[in-house]
Amino acid sequence: MAKKSSKKSWGLCKDCKWWQIEPKTSPKNNTMGLCIDEKLQPFLLRVSGNSGCNRFMPGKPAKASGSSKAPPEAKPTR
Ligand code: SF4
Repeated sequence: MAKKSSKKSWGLCKDCKWWQIEPKTSPKNNTMGLCIDEKLQPFLLRVSGNSGCNRFMPGKPAKASGSSKAPPEAKPTR
């Protein structure tokens, strides 16, 4: 059975260090990017700044060209 979700560590992608966006984009609610959390990388999860999850880690987003494509084309840079 899946672990209970923890509200404590939940946060928004726009404030998360595992969010990766296009080099010339600023982190806003509707900015699209790739989640590069190690466990989520296999899913090529494309998320907006206003998305979030409990793997959240506070920090600045990484930047790489192709992060916002559908599906994302950028490799994780962290
Ligand atoms: S999906 Fe979760 S881990 Fe990935 S960038 Fe968003 S908050 Fe961070």
